[in-house]
Amino acid sequence: MESVLSVKDLQVVFSGFKALKGVNLEVGDGEIVTIIGPNGAGKSTLLDAIVGKSPVSSGHVYYHGRDITNKNPYEVARLGIGRKFQNPNVYNDLTVFENVLLALKGSHGIFASIMSKMTSAKKAKISQVLERTGLLEKAFDKVSLLSHGQKQWVEIAMVLAQDPSIVLLDEPTAGMTEDETYMTGEIIKSISQSHSVVVIEHDMDFVKQIAQRIVVLHQGETLAEGTVEEVQNDDKVIEVYLGRERINVAA
Ligand code: ADP
Ligand code: MG
Repeated sequence: MESVLSVKDLQVVFSGFKALKGVNLEVGDGEIVTIIGPNGAGKSTLLDAIVGKSPVSSGHVYYHGRDITNKNPYEVARLGIGRKFQNPNVYNDLTVFENVLLALKGSHGIFASIMSKMTSAKKAKISQVLERTGLLEKAFDKVSLLSHGQKQWVEIAMVLAQDPSIVLLDEPTAGMTEDETYMTGEIIKSISQSHSVVVIEHDMDFVKQIAQRIVVLHQGETLAEGTVEEVQNDDKVIEVYLGRERINVAA
């Protein structure tokens, strides 16, 4: 499997505090890698460091074999790494369609994007990402009318509109209903048909639904890595999570 993203011995230090202590991560073409771990484990920091939002103290990030360590976030996004943050960052007063239009590569601001003559290629791209995120029927609704879960999907659609080859999602199901969570899992599986995906997640049912490979982070280090069963039966993982309710390793 061709390596899309390769993180080597990554360290991130915040004023003396080691948030990541030498993490390795490999993501292959079309692969879904799920990162779990207790709060403060360094999961978001790992994504931040990959996209150039947190400074890497040592180690490397390679994207399709190219060293992108400490490149700025705009350049990383332009190269093809799409990142969805924990809180939706959408324009509530615009329609779903307009939000995705703004996110398309080569868009320049709200006015220019909406007023510019839309090529059929752009229209096709927008309907493709809306279909993939289950939003086609909501295309001309204002985002303010959508549920919390649907707003999260709009943001995923906006990430896809940038044509990334890998998509990084930080707790995409936070605050979602059970049905929305399930739907998000199906969306992620569909995305993985043409993209690599890295997902940070807490909900173990969701992890089981989507996961191919799981990486467990704990205190800035990789504690375990493997399939759902392998990770759930790992003594170190059981020890860290024993008694915790959010991740039911015994299930
Ligand atoms: P997770 O996403 O796994 O819950 P984070 O990556 O957000 O954890 O945080 C890992 C650790 O790094 C935490 O102890 C957090 O307080 C610390 N941290 C994260 N970002 C910063 C920052 N910008 N400055 C200082 N400390 C930070
Ligand atoms: Mg986090």
